[in-house]
Amino acid sequence: MSLPDRSAGGHPDYLHIQISTPFAVGDVNVYLIRDEKNVLIDCGPKTRIAAQTLITQLGEAGLKPGDIDEIWLTHGHPDHCGLASMMRDKHDVRLFAHRGEKRNILKNPDRRLFSNFFEDAGVPDYLIHEMDMQRKWYDVYTDATEVDGWIEDGDELTTGRHRFTAHHLPGHSPGHLAFADENGHIFSGDVLLQRISSNAIITFDTDTGKRQNSLRELRDSMKKMTSVTGMVYPGHGLPFSRAAETVQHHLESQEKRYMKVLEVLSGGPASLFDTAKKMFPEIERPELTFLCISEVTGYVDRAINEGFAQTEIIDGKKVITGNVPLNDAAC
Ligand SMILES: [Zn+2]
Repeated sequence: MSLPDRSAGGHPDYLHIQISTPFAVGDVNVYLIRDEKNVLIDCGPKTRIAAQTLITQLGEAGLKPGDIDEIWLTHGHPDHCGLASMMRDKHDVRLFAHRGEKRNILKNPDRRLFSNFFEDAGVPDYLIHEMDMQRKWYDVYTDATEVDGWIEDGDELTTGRHRFTAHHLPGHSPGHLAFADENGHIFSGDVLLQRISSNAIITFDTDTGKRQNSLRELRDSMKKMTSVTGMVYPGHGLPFSRAAETVQHHLESQEKRYMKVLEVLSGGPASLFDTAKKMFPEIERPELTFLCISEVTGYVDRAINEGFAQTEIIDGKKVITGNVPLNDAAC
């Protein structure tokens, strides 16, 4: 009996390891590059079942965890990097990432920056508290760890026979990386998924504390993906080809959503939270609150940048006012 083909996109040196997560996104993809140096791209969340799956599937490839030389992280979210600490501390695997992920990998987000932002956005106190509870739950699935080296945009990495170029593609997370091989295939993490639109998540600059324009960064990063000619090996879902079409599809969906936000903004002054609630009535489900606010924040940033909205203080509260009739905005 032959073993099932778990090669990634049919490539003999790339092994696709699918690992379950406790998160709404479902399974996460880890990729093994079997070469003179064995490299894992991402490693899965810190759960017993994820560790078992990883070890079992490495075993089917004839490897033990200690045979892995390096982990290259696409980014530091728990579903992608939760097991990094275990692999590094127990199995001496060297860990590499982009320095923009420092806060994620060290589990060191500045909570004060987030709570100030949410208060300013008019988020009710109980939901700010619920989001903090959610963050604590999320943090259970990763351990803070040190990194053995930082990968910069444009760095050339090699595993022996294969060469990869690292691309810094922020937006979903500040230090998100994708790794393109010499044949035009790319390990894209969460910057481009086939069926799900990637989230532009609220982040603050590590040095200045200034909130970053995550949605604009994500759009720029996705546009860069249109030049990918080979297979896309994503962080979630199956490998796919024709990256440019997928990018186009997601960008068009984003445009529609932007038009909807402009429509909501034309309804009169409202806090960011109330604007987001009109877009997403389900926002008060605690597991969705942060993502919904992140999403709408990106579109409101864009509306303000493009002159379609402005912020004002009314009765001591910060509100956003759309200043273009919908018919003008929509054409
Ligand atoms: Zn992610």
